[in-house]
Amino acid sequence: MVDQDKIKEAVKLLLEGIGEEPFREGLLGTPDRVARMYTELMAGMDADVSEPLSKVFAVEHNELVLEKDIFFYSMCEHHMLPFYGKAHIAYLPDGKVLGLSKLARTVEVYARRLQIQEQMTGQIADAIMEYLAPQGVMAVLEAEHMCMTMRGVKKPGSRTVSVAMRGVFEGNAQLQDQVYRMLKLGQG
Ligand code: ZN
Repeated sequence: MVDQDKIKEAVKLLLEGIGEEPFREGLLGTPDRVARMYTELMAGMDADVSEPLSKVFAVEHNELVLEKDIFFYSMCEHHMLPFYGKAHIAYLPDGKVLGLSKLARTVEVYARRLQIQEQMTGQIADAIMEYLAPQGVMAVLEAEHMCMTMRGVKKPGSRTVSVAMRGVFEGNAQLQDQVYRMLKLGQG
């Protein structure tokens, strides 16, 4: 659970630390606003993917499913700056599929906490394997990291792509290529 009082105290200290005056008019409401903002941005810490991932439908044919362009916003745990972009999730069912909005909900649960993109990619794939138990999952995340673009090496527009494969996708180049073709991504 987010402790709003602690965040407010910390923001006041941060403001002092950067040489600001926390009690000047423009900053008076800032600790409170930031505390409420973090409650929203970290909501995934208290959320559970078992809820969205438990709504499944039976299917007769196990055709590849790809949900692409699921937009997300997360926060890198190294700098506490946003990274944001798109998640694409493919899976080969084993008799059951998910409602499409459930994949977006799953991404949201893992995005709304301090994260590392590679870890988040793996968590999404693992959760789908655990709760849906498909033949395999492939999760691709592409994101721009503010800690790369507004500070440090300053490479605006550069994106980090991470991939996690589980089950039948592991070592199956044909299946992986099918997903990349559907994404029109990874073609050079
Ligand atoms: Zn960072």
